[in-house]
Amino acid sequence: TKYVYDFSEGNKDLKGLLGGKGANLAEMNNLGLPVPPGFTITTEACKAYLDSGEAPAQLRDEVSAHLSALEERMGKKLGQADDPLLVSVRSGAKFSMPGMMDTVLNIGLSDESVHGLAAQSGDERFAWDSYRRLIQMFGDTVLGIHGERFAETLEEAKTARGATTDVDLSAEALKELVTKFKNIVSEETGRDFPQDPREQMDLAVRAVFDSWNGSRARLYRRQERIPHDLGTAVNICSMVFGNLGPDSGTGVAFTRDPASGQQGVYGDYLQNAQGEDVVAGIRNTVPLADLEALDKASYDQLMQIMETLENHYRDLCDIEFTIERGKLWMLQTRVGKRTAAAAFRIATQLVDQGLIDEAEALRRVNGSQLAQLMFPRFDAGGGVENADQIGWGIAASPGAAVGKAVFDSYTAIKWSRSGEKVILIRRETNPDDLDGMLAAEGILTSRGGKTSHAAVVARGMGKTCVCGAEELEVDTKRRCLKAPGGKVVEEGDVVSIDGSTGKVYAGEVPVVPSPVVEYFEGRMHAGADDADELVKAVHRIMAYADRVRRLRVRANADNAEDAARARRFGAQGIGLCRTEHMFLGERRELVERLILADTEEERKRALHALLPLQQGDFVELFESMDGLPVTVRLLDPPLHEFLPDITELSVRVALAESRKDANENDLRLLQAVHRLHEQNPMLGLRGVRLGLVIPGLFTMQIRAIAEAAAERKAGGGDPRAEIMIPLVGTVQELELVREEAEEVINEVEQERGVDLGLSLGTMIELPRAALTAGQIAECADFFSFGTNDLTQTVWAFSRDDVEASFFTAYLEKGIFGVSPFETIDKDGVGSLVRSAAEAGRATRPDLKLGVCGEHGGDPESVHFFHEVGLDYVSCSPFRIPVARLEAGRAAA
Ligand code: ADP
Ligand code: MG
Ligand code: MG
Repeated sequence: TKYVYDFSEGNKDLKGLLGGKGANLAEMNNLGLPVPPGFTITTEACKAYLDSGEAPAQLRDEVSAHLSALEERMGKKLGQADDPLLVSVRSGAKFSMPGMMDTVLNIGLSDESVHGLAAQSGDERFAWDSYRRLIQMFGDTVLGIHGERFAETLEEAKTARGATTDVDLSAEALKELVTKFKNIVSEETGRDFPQDPREQMDLAVRAVFDSWNGSRARLYRRQERIPHDLGTAVNICSMVFGNLGPDSGTGVAFTRDPASGQQGVYGDYLQNAQGEDVVAGIRNTVPLADLEALDKASYDQLMQIMETLENHYRDLCDIEFTIERGKLWMLQTRVGKRTAAAAFRIATQLVDQGLIDEAEALRRVNGSQLAQLMFPRFDAGGGVENADQIGWGIAASPGAAVGKAVFDSYTAIKWSRSGEKVILIRRETNPDDLDGMLAAEGILTSRGGKTSHAAVVARGMGKTCVCGAEELEVDTKRRCLKAPGGKVVEEGDVVSIDGSTGKVYAGEVPVVPSPVVEYFEGRMHAGADDADELVKAVHRIMAYADRVRRLRVRANADNAEDAARARRFGAQGIGLCRTEHMFLGERRELVERLILADTEEERKRALHALLPLQQGDFVELFESMDGLPVTVRLLDPPLHEFLPDITELSVRVALAESRKDANENDLRLLQAVHRLHEQNPMLGLRGVRLGLVIPGLFTMQIRAIAEAAAERKAGGGDPRAEIMIPLVGTVQELELVREEAEEVINEVEQERGVDLGLSLGTMIELPRAALTAGQIAECADFFSFGTNDLTQTVWAFSRDDVEASFFTAYLEKGIFGVSPFETIDKDGVGSLVRSAAEAGRATRPDLKLGVCGEHGGDPESVHFFHEVGLDYVSCSPFRIPVARLEAGRAAA
């Protein structure tokens, strides 16, 4: 293996080997852009070092050879006393990792060569400034000395000299500072600052290797799901100097606005400065546009290069550059990060510029960006810039939430019951906070990251959450929140939190609906001249997605209102209509009568009373989805859910008995509740089992569906009902239900003289059903994978319990990167889906296959369902655009 590549040997596709930075430096070099010469030590070398604890012997030789070649080319040797070659040692992994160590600049300077640098540049001040920077960066990142020690000493020097910024320090002052910095190194490490340039370089390389396994880097990788075995590359790059006076400087730029996607000149420039100064905010930068006045030639060249890069990468790029005495140097580029809105706008702009085609545009955006754009937000025009921002945390779950500050769950519940909107503020949350979190508009914590309890649970609930706002002090005893600068938020004061940016504001910030939702709702039109640019872009990309996707997208909707919204959002039918809510409210009493019925007669009467009510619901639903399929699932949950709570009822009966006025009905109810009580109701009498045990229940529902369809047909409608049987484990269950169903349907068809064209299928949500799918398909017109229950039963996880209890620990330990209820577990649950789909189709090639459950609207899962050949996914109405987009991306 070859461990070292000259910049002229790599290219942008070698990110795995050379890291992002190295691969792109090579690419820029190949494009003929001005890149300071250098070479890259591969990630393979890093891995070899990390595996054995020692750098491979061959690496030292290869580095020596490349260094010699570099010295030859530059006409000077690393650290040469009279004219030193200086280099930077820069980390750079395949994926950019802010948690890693940074870069060490000016390697090669020593007590001796600093004089050489001064003489060569004719600038004493510059040479000492570079040297003090080397000791500072080296001390911090390589020797592990607390950066504060250097920073404080620098501050003292400035104060002593009456200097406001570091450029005001004279050569003399900097020379003294170097002595002080060297003393810090000796004190802290027990040895002198290394004077041998090659030793400096080797130590820096080793420190970069080691930083791959630093705790910050490991944590970052777990959170971002980056594998731990990639290793980092190390770039050795000859120095160019932005700190050589006013005709020098350094800057960062974007080829277009990463916030809006607009083309233009975006970036910051800092005169007479080196590398990190721009981002560190040491001095005030000027907008990039001002460079034109400072150095027109460099500015024009930079604009030219930015255009070259955009055309080459066919995407927004961000860049780092340095100007040394009027000569421009490119130090970094990469395809830049962008906001969700910019991603959509840039993708369509690039199509218009002819740089990418529509399929590529689709790949450049994703469903989670679209989902972000659909949350309500703080009103940009309406004062969010002037709002009183008091803190900043991790954007853990998107949305904008406003409410009164409460500091415990009890208060959150109490206040929200009386109609107040509240924000639950905790240092961190735990399972006891669940009800409080449910009651709150949003959740704010001062501790914990993206996998903390608050973050995981809030995302699961779809609640806005900002977590880990560390500079905010949560005082639960005094019930207040203390912000830096002395501002205090007391219980009851209004706060606003932005789960998309992590910002926390005191007071009420106005919230507006997302223009993208306004568009999907049909209240905003993409065709209008003054239409929002973002809306136009979303409209176009959705059109591409719809054109290419194979998966159809249906909605989970139980009522006409949800169905209508789903249709506006592009649903092509209903994939899951749950019928349980049709048994709630005032109809509960009828269900109680059904359960308590002693005689055949009583039961029939109860069912008879329920029939027209159900029928009415279905008529409305079929009407709102006229012409599109509607899958109705027969009753699924255990019956006890429709009865009073066992404890409450027991207390009521006991009290009544003690007063000797126990009511007959309550006594019977209590008996029934006891009879139906189950230790594990989710594994008990529910789904098809109910239908087989309670005579007449399913036939009543089937009759209601058939009558409703007949009624719609008679009225000129086009109902397309599909009857779905839940929780089937064996084909025998399905056969029994089918026999009864066909009888009822025939009856209705004959009475009404119509052909209803009803189909009957089943959910596949038990492992046994998946394993015997070939048999089950003999009796089913369609399968709908119920991946929520399937996940519960395959993993033996109760979703209601485990997400709040031990999932946080599992996520932290990296057992999963994401909850299997959020994204389908492809290897386990997914492989059952795949094999059941194959077995089903082997029996019945025209078997219709779909999925209902949360996964139907999850981007990664949608790709999986596309790949295993399902016909449709079904998800909640709000997720439909996301599913459409991802189905398109899967096919593009
Ligand atoms: P990061 O990944 O943190 O951006 P970099 O390796 O890009 O770290 O370097 C940090 C800063 O130092 C950047 O501003 C970069 O442009 C600058 N820099 C790195 N190498 C050199 C060099 N050889 N000459 C001048 N500036 C450099
Ligand atoms: Mg950089
Ligand atoms: Mg289910």
